[in-house]
Amino acid sequence: AKVYKYQYKFRGFPKYTDLKITEEELPEIQDGEYLAQAVYLSIDPYMRAYANSLPVGSTMIGTQIAIIIESKNPNFPVGKYVLGDFGWRTHTISNGKLENEKIPQHILPQHDNIPLSYHLGILGLVGYTAYFGLLNICKPKEGETVVVSGAAGGVGSLVGQIAKILGCTVIGIAGSDEKGKWLTGELGFDHFINYKTDDVKKALTIAAPNGVDCYFDNVGGDVSSKVIYQMNEFGRIAVCGCISNYNSINEPEDVLLQFPITFKQLRMEGFVISRWADSFAEASLQLLEWIKEGKLKCRETVTEGFENTFEAFKEMLKGRNVGKAIVKF
Ligand code: NDP
Repeated sequence: AKVYKYQYKFRGFPKYTDLKITEEELPEIQDGEYLAQAVYLSIDPYMRAYANSLPVGSTMIGTQIAIIIESKNPNFPVGKYVLGDFGWRTHTISNGKLENEKIPQHILPQHDNIPLSYHLGILGLVGYTAYFGLLNICKPKEGETVVVSGAAGGVGSLVGQIAKILGCTVIGIAGSDEKGKWLTGELGFDHFINYKTDDVKKALTIAAPNGVDCYFDNVGGDVSSKVIYQMNEFGRIAVCGCISNYNSINEPEDVLLQFPITFKQLRMEGFVISRWADSFAEASLQLLEWIKEGKLKCRETVTEGFENTFEAFKEMLKGRNVGKAIVKF
């Protein structure tokens, strides 16, 4: 198996030399085990955020779709596809229960006309994050104004579309005009703000003249502070992530959010998607239905080749992905 191992802890923007590709000789599988070969690897921002909590020398974390090529475990038969937190590696031996898995390994259902890779995005944690973060924390009502940052990414592009299904006015914030065209042209977002070139505060007062009721925050930092200052009384903020800070070596800037939170009586709540693990099946059914009805569209940015995995990770952190970032092996 080829495996990416941490060579150094990331400091600032990750460097190619922080990881090292090694060859690992795999033993024969034992009773209860299976051997899987990676097909798709999910590229996610959390990899940057969590990587440094792992010891140097361990395998770079990540979720895979892999095909089972040998098996001595009846629950994981040869030829089936499995979802597992195997990390950045080509082959994995598992007994079906690796420790520290966000979600347990399981055989993936194959739906007609739905790409298998969707299980890393819209029909996986990314989809559940958009669905539960929006419905359970933002709780948008028909006619309200919803803002989402990181709007053209895996999570953000779904949040905006679900908010449209619920009858809201949707404003997406992202980092390029090409992304904006996709959001307003194809996904039905009402407005787009380019946080790199627009004055976010001014653009928001124009796009949301009646203020913002819900904010789904994927990025944190200055952009989020500007949105939060435009919120209406009793507004709700789902704090999903803060990618603007993941590569920073500086302490976060001190912005006084308590002011709007107090006087506008806002509710701001962070979440980690595993909180709703018991309801993933329900979300999956609903998301699948919306895909089939043509109400949810999704896009993937696919990088080919194990050797290009670091490149895909770097490009995602730089915002070069539209929709879900994945690597195909
Ligand atoms: P994305 O597909 O959105 O990819 C990351 C995007 O972040 C890039 O495309 C880039 O787009 C944007 N970005 C990068 N740097 C910055 C910056 N400095 N400021 C603003 N935007 C930036 O990733 P995901 O959809 O997978 O994840 C989105 C967020 O959700 C992340 O913060 C992630 O950590 C979080 N998350 C949280 C979960 C939870 O359980 N709470 C579960 C899953 C994800 P652009 O061109 O717009 O800059």
